[in-house]
Amino acid sequence: MTHTIRTIAIDGPAGAGKSTVAQALAQKLGFLYFDTGVMYRAVALAALRRGISLQNEPALAALANDIFIEVLPPTVADGRQYTVLLDGEDVTWALRQPEVDASVSVVSAYAPVRQAMVAQQRRIAQRGNVVMVGRDIGTVVMPDADVKIYLDASVEARALRRYRELRLRNVEVTYEEVLASMRARDELDRTRAVTPLRPADDAFIVDNTDMDAEDTLDYILNLIERVNQAHLAA
Ligand code: C5P
Repeated sequence: MTHTIRTIAIDGPAGAGKSTVAQALAQKLGFLYFDTGVMYRAVALAALRRGISLQNEPALAALANDIFIEVLPPTVADGRQYTVLLDGEDVTWALRQPEVDASVSVVSAYAPVRQAMVAQQRRIAQRGNVVMVGRDIGTVVMPDADVKIYLDASVEARALRRYRELRLRNVEVTYEEVLASMRARDELDRTRAVTPLRPADDAFIVDNTDMDAEDTLDYILNLIERVNQAHLAA
């Protein structure tokens, strides 16, 4: 379908359905799907494991530059979208633990941690044919992306989706806990000093509170096709 589109940036808060849409889009277009959130999660997990305080910015910055994060196609058919290796160890599911959810936004707010991650993300973006997902992709990592989407939904809808995902994987958690954790993470991501979560000026804002995953994908495919047609006509 598309010929002129090479880079797609998808940003938005947790639980907006970014990864589901991005994976389906990438598959449809034959693009690489890259979820930048796993990189910040890997730093947070490594910090928790090594007992590094979340307040210790210099130690976290050193850690971000020291660890080796690899994102590969799924190596196990257990519902994962990709396999993440942290210094060679498969941490794909460990990255989804509530403890990581609770600490990742503190870690990702530090400028030196972001610098280390953004440099790696830009290298991947430069190759093109990529759907990249995160919080600052349209604003910082790929400011020239061909299509920028900011996916949003009410915090209650997003918490319910995340709660259902966790329960499917038998993680012991209540809806109220997920809602509180998501509110806290939203607040940190939106108010941090360095590149807070916000839509790029030229992003399409899509609120999918009342849409399911299929409707969201159709809507976004339509947007992409319109951008493509506009490029072709220009
Ligand atoms: O997308 P996900 O929920 O896995 O992201 C985890 C956390 O990583 C976010 O809450 C945010 O603090 C951070 N993040 C970020 N910039 C990105 C992607 C994620 O700050 N591009």
